[in-house]
Amino acid sequence: MNKMKEPSPHFPILIAEDNPVSRKLLEKTLLKAGYEVTSVENGRKALELFNKKFFPIVLTDWMMPEMSGLELCRAIRKDTSKGYVFIVLLTAKDSKDDIVSGLEAGADDYLTKPPNHSEMIARIKTGIRILELERSLKRANEEIRVLSITDPLTGCYNRGYMTERLPQEIKRAKRYRRPLSLLLCDIDHFKELNDTYGHQVGDRILKKFVQWIKKSIRSDVDWLARYGGEEFLIVLPETDFNGAYIMAERLRSAIAQRVINVQERGIHVTASFGVTGLDPATPNDKLSPEAMITQADKCLYQAKQEGRNRVEAGKL
Ligand code: GH3
Ligand code: MG
Ligand code: MG
Ligand code: MG
Repeated sequence: MNKMKEPSPHFPILIAEDNPVSRKLLEKTLLKAGYEVTSVENGRKALELFNKKFFPIVLTDWMMPEMSGLELCRAIRKDTSKGYVFIVLLTAKDSKDDIVSGLEAGADDYLTKPPNHSEMIARIKTGIRILELERSLKRANEEIRVLSITDPLTGCYNRGYMTERLPQEIKRAKRYRRPLSLLLCDIDHFKELNDTYGHQVGDRILKKFVQWIKKSIRSDVDWLARYGGEEFLIVLPETDFNGAYIMAERLRSAIAQRVINVQERGIHVTASFGVTGLDPATPNDKLSPEAMITQADKCLYQAKQEGRNRVEAGKL
C-alpha cells in the first residue's frame, strides 16, 4: 500500500540543499513517494540546471553558499516563459519576518527544517494541484486562441487572423528586404452552385476547396485565410511577383481540371485570381495591407470581367 505514488513524471522536482545528509534524506523521501527528483548542492547549480531543463517544482534550502534560496527564488521568478514554478523554501528560520521575506522573494510555501515527511509530501501535492490548474487554464486559453483565429466552416484562418498577421508579414519582408506576394482567389459562379445543388453542398465544396489549396501551398511558410464568403487570401512570403503569378496559374489550372466529389456527384469548379507582390524596390507608401489587398482585388475584378477562370496580376 502506497497512497503517495503520483503521476510524477509531469512534475519533476529540483532540490537545492548544501547539507549532504539533509539533501540525501529529502531526495530519498521524495523518490520513495514516487517523484522524479534531481538534487544539487547550491542555488547557482540549481539555476544552471533549471535553465537547461524545466522543473515545475523547486524545493530549496535558504542558507547555501554561492547562491542562497532567496536569490534562487528571485531568479526563477524573473523568467515566466516556461510556465509556473511552485517553490517551497526550506528554512531553519521561522520568525514571521523571515517567512515574509521568503514569500516576498517569490516562494509559494515554506517548511521549517527538519521537515516532517508527510507534511512535505502534502505541500508538494498542494503545489501539484495549483500546477495542474495552471496547465488546464493554459490549454483552455490555447483552445480559445485557435477558435478565435479559425474559420469554423473551412478550418482555415479567418479574416481576423489575416488582419493581425498580414501587417507582420509586410513588416518582416520590408525589414529583411524579402519579396512577399498575395493571391486573392474567388470561386466562379458560386451562387449558381448553391442554387443548383443546395447550400449544404456549397459548404462541402468550400471545405474541400480549402483542404486542396492547403495541400497545394508550402505548409511551413504560405498561409491561407477566408477573406469573405467564397473568397480566400493566399499569402506567399519569400515568393516574388513572377513566382506568385506562376503559382496562381498552376492553382487555377489544377482546380479547373479537378472534380470535387460531394454526395456522389462530381462537381466542376473554377476560380479566378488576382495577384500582387512587393519586392525591395516597392515604394514605401505601397507597403500596407490595404494597398496590397486593393491591388489584388483590382486584379481579381479584372479576371472576373475578362471571363473568369483566369489569373490577372499587377505590381504595386
Ligand atoms: P462570381 O463568379 O462573380 O464570383 O460569382 P459568384 O456567384 O461566385 O459570386 P456572388 O458574390 O454573386 O455570390 C457568392 C455566393 O457565395 C453567394 C453566397 O450565398 C455564397 N456563399 C457565401 N458564403 C457561403 C458559405 O459559407 N456557404 C455557402 N454554401 N455559400 C456561401
Ligand atoms: Mg543550508
Ligand atoms: Mg465568386
Ligand atoms: Mg465573391
